[in-house]
Amino acid sequence: MNSKPEADGLSFRESVDHMVDNAIEIMGLEKGMGNALKSCHSVLQVSFPVKIKGQAEIFTGWRAVHSDHRLPSKGGIRFAPYVDQDEVEALAALMTYKCAIVDVPFGGSKGGLIIDPSKYSTDEMEAITRRFTRELIDKGYMSPAKNVPAPDLGTGPREMGWMVDTYRRLFPDDINYLGSVTGKPVEHGGVRGRKEATGRGVQYALREFFRHPDEVHLANLSGTLKDKRIIIQGLGNVGYHAAHFLEIEDGARIIAIAECDGAIVNLQGLVVAEVRQYIDRTGSIKGYPNAEYLANSAEALELDCDILIPAAMEGVITNKNAPNIKARLIAEAANGPITYNADQLLQERGVQIIPDAYCNAGGVIVSYFEWVRNLAHVRFGRMERRFHEAKGRHIITAIEQATDVKLPDWLSDEISRGANEFDLVRSGLDDSMRLAFQDIIECRRTNDRIKDYRMAAYVLAIKKIARSYHDIGY
Ligand code: GLU
Repeated sequence: MNSKPEADGLSFRESVDHMVDNAIEIMGLEKGMGNALKSCHSVLQVSFPVKIKGQAEIFTGWRAVHSDHRLPSKGGIRFAPYVDQDEVEALAALMTYKCAIVDVPFGGSKGGLIIDPSKYSTDEMEAITRRFTRELIDKGYMSPAKNVPAPDLGTGPREMGWMVDTYRRLFPDDINYLGSVTGKPVEHGGVRGRKEATGRGVQYALREFFRHPDEVHLANLSGTLKDKRIIIQGLGNVGYHAAHFLEIEDGARIIAIAECDGAIVNLQGLVVAEVRQYIDRTGSIKGYPNAEYLANSAEALELDCDILIPAAMEGVITNKNAPNIKARLIAEAANGPITYNADQLLQERGVQIIPDAYCNAGGVIVSYFEWVRNLAHVRFGRMERRFHEAKGRHIITAIEQATDVKLPDWLSDEISRGANEFDLVRSGLDDSMRLAFQDIIECRRTNDRIKDYRMAAYVLAIKKIARSYHDIGY
């Protein structure tokens, strides 16, 4: 059987539902509306054969649409050996709340395929992905207007490239075919900055947290991100980018990295890019020089630190290890890493948690930009970049003529530099993350019954979704 053991006796979906129930109760939302909000709109299950080394192998996958009050419904597709319907539905629900929190005008969806990608060749993976895509399209679960997949655990630009090509071949007349998938390679309609987006979003969430001294104080911390001791669990796409940017741009110290085959610890700080290269070269974190190795990677989560960033998968902090967690602040880069029961325990102990539905929303924010770019059929910055550069040069000339002082070259360059697509995507991501956290803080401050950021984030999301259901009828 490929499913995971239930953490704390609750399935992932039940865990998410409990958190949402609490928010619904605090808001005093009418029961019918609460139920409508929580229920998963539709789920597709497919089983299909693909010929692997001369033999037909059957693959099973799902695509759940949690909500379609806004279209398209949006969310990643994960390829993993343990994925199941409950997990896909829980993740689709999280997508609904996530989009609402960061003001991305999409419904929530998610997909999953039971597969261990490491067991198949590239050609086999392509055949399987294309076949799964055809099933999704065939059953009305993928199109630029209704349902737009993206990368998730076990998938990336490569799979998204195959998916968009499959869609294009089936609908060559659809001028918006590029908008049928996000997270594509940049050469095939992807937007610059999408690959790093979720990790970058985690960094921006933490930066925004540290801009609010009262919030920092609540977590028993002080100062800025500089020199903060951080533990990362999972050095995949999200964990790597979050850790790398926090290290090189904010001066944080990554004191431990936990992977599935062990953890490494160095209290002076690890160089994340070197660790990544080491894993790519050797296939394991074990044996990384200048660090202590822990064979049981779960131990790393319990080390003393300022910030813990679980960036791997759901259900890693349960009522068993929650009492031993020493971090003052947890930034949920993964979806659902803390179970409902663990969340209650951590809250009682005053540990502050930046919740997944906000913290890891960077991916879908930049997916939104990519989708808009695909429908607009033009690269961001293409029309205005040189115009702004020319304007900047005029300003420099005016200042220099009026003052008779030549500006330093670096300043002239900064003033006259027009923004490229990377700059604009990062700026849009930063803005979305900052505004959403400000809303979350405000919501928590203005309601005595809201004790934590997760509850505040859910209350915010539910208010927006309920308003939209109310307006359009349900
Ligand atoms: N899989 C990512 C998530 O869980 C991205 C979803 C998207 O871009 O649609 O948020």
